[in-house]
Amino acid sequence: MNRILIAEDEERIASFIEKGLRANGFITTSVADGNSALELARQGTDLVILDLGLPQLDGFDVLAAMRREGVSTPVIILTARDTVHDTVAGLEGGADDYMTKPFRFEELLARVRLRLRTGDSVSDVGVLTHGVLSLDLRTRRATAAGGTVDLTAREFLLLELFLRHPGQVLVREQILSHVWGYDFDPGSNIVDVYVRALRKKLGADRIGTVRGMGYRLE
Ligand code: CA
Repeated sequence: MNRILIAEDEERIASFIEKGLRANGFITTSVADGNSALELARQGTDLVILDLGLPQLDGFDVLAAMRREGVSTPVIILTARDTVHDTVAGLEGGADDYMTKPFRFEELLARVRLRLRTGDSVSDVGVLTHGVLSLDLRTRRATAAGGTVDLTAREFLLLELFLRHPGQVLVREQILSHVWGYDFDPGSNIVDVYVRALRKKLGADRIGTVRGMGYRLE
């Protein structure tokens, strides 16, 4: 399991990120100032989500100190300063990626996964397959029984989730938190709508309904 350090002094944002990452199986630690961020980064973590505007040391200083000390952990910068200047400075300072606030959780999650995948041979599987279905994680293209299928961004996340858990029942809440993050109304029927869309594209019998529980990739 991957450990992620979140350095963000705005409690609302920190808790939004933390809840989302935990729901997706990550272990998180959250700090609200630059000194604590640097200290925990030194102790070792798999990825750092680093806000630029932090008290004590700011994000740039934390990043510079980490790199100077040879801490090569991937860093995703969070910034409200969406100027080209700051972004370029951040990337030159050794950041791997950046996100401009406000952002949707799903975008952050995609970047986190991408950064953790580099150098991780277990999850570095470019193509997920099950029976006649396959999904290329790089091109985001699916094939079903040899034919190519175009997917929307949400359909892609949904199919990826099914392909990572073939034959298992996925309950609606699990699907909602994976595909929609916290950006959803738990009472909505959006999962059903998207499953229907996937069935239309991939074949009706590929995804089974498990009554009162959820769905299963057959
Ligand atoms: Ca801040």
